[in-house]
Amino acid sequence: MTQQQQEQQSFGIVFDIDGVLIRDGVPIPNATKALGLLVDQDTQQPKYPYIFVTNGGGFSEADKAKKVSKVLNHHIEEDHCMVAHTPMKTLVDKYRDNDVLLVSKSHKTSEHLAQVYGFKHFTSLQQYVEERPFLYPTKYSTFWTKGVASEYDIKKSKDDQLPFKAIILLEEPLDWGECIQIIVDIAQSKDGLLEKNFINKADTQMIDVHIANPDISYGGEFVLPRFTMGALTECIKTLYKIQTGRDLIHTFYGKPYKLTYEYAKELLSNQLKKLNHQSPPKHIYAIGDNPYSDIKGANNLKSEGWVSILVKTGCWKSEFNHPEIPADHYVNDVLEAVELILRLENKNSS
Ligand SMILES: [Mg+2]
Repeated sequence: MTQQQQEQQSFGIVFDIDGVLIRDGVPIPNATKALGLLVDQDTQQPKYPYIFVTNGGGFSEADKAKKVSKVLNHHIEEDHCMVAHTPMKTLVDKYRDNDVLLVSKSHKTSEHLAQVYGFKHFTSLQQYVEERPFLYPTKYSTFWTKGVASEYDIKKSKDDQLPFKAIILLEEPLDWGECIQIIVDIAQSKDGLLEKNFINKADTQMIDVHIANPDISYGGEFVLPRFTMGALTECIKTLYKIQTGRDLIHTFYGKPYKLTYEYAKELLSNQLKKLNHQSPPKHIYAIGDNPYSDIKGANNLKSEGWVSILVKTGCWKSEFNHPEIPADHYVNDVLEAVELILRLENKNSS
């Protein structure tokens, strides 16, 4: 086969994880077999480029790759795995000289991800409130618990803090009330340097807001869906509008947003280079179970070679393709999806 023919046939695969390969921490039948078709049986090295993209977050790509590798008994490299906040790595340079507020479940998680990604100056949500407890009396007021006037233990003044330039939501925090209050406070200031009797109020929004994972809800153990980051964002937007009269300007990461698909394409192109293909993949197959994220995002980029494949093993189980967001292909499971791709690309799957 000539180099030109090889280039023409270059393709990549993007797997969603939950509902496609794993459900409740257990492999979906045929998942490991499907991945086995993509590696060399002797060396176990990938024959074709593929990556894993989840809208989950709060963990590093290395941690996620390790966990998924273990469940599926299939080795996954760290740079073959994307979580919702992976494309936020590109923000490190932008905010090199400023402080950023990082929001996640704990100070420890934010600190870990800041180190992994390389954020030089950062403050976690939990740290920020602890240093300025007057901002969230619901938690820190002694009047409610002890019946005495609060004497807040203030640990930080605006003079020993770098100005904020951005708020970055990495994952849903445990205390939504605290998170909403602080984000609305900081987003209406010029610099996030808040003191008990002081806020440098802005006339227009001067603090950038970046949010990983736009999903309103996810399927939990309970029969009704559970709210997550997208729902929290709706609360923040509503209260920011009430306070300022303005719409909150924000950037979403994760599926179905373009930034995530562009980053995924870059990772696949890097793998292709290792396999001696110099140009980016001509076709990228996105296998997912969620029409509103996995399929919608790929359908939006059809003109750039993306092809969507919906499986029946996750949140969409109907006999028929989704009526409003139809995938290019609708198959039973991930094994059928991979076999279909190899057929479409004229590769022998045996
Ligand atoms: Mg899924």
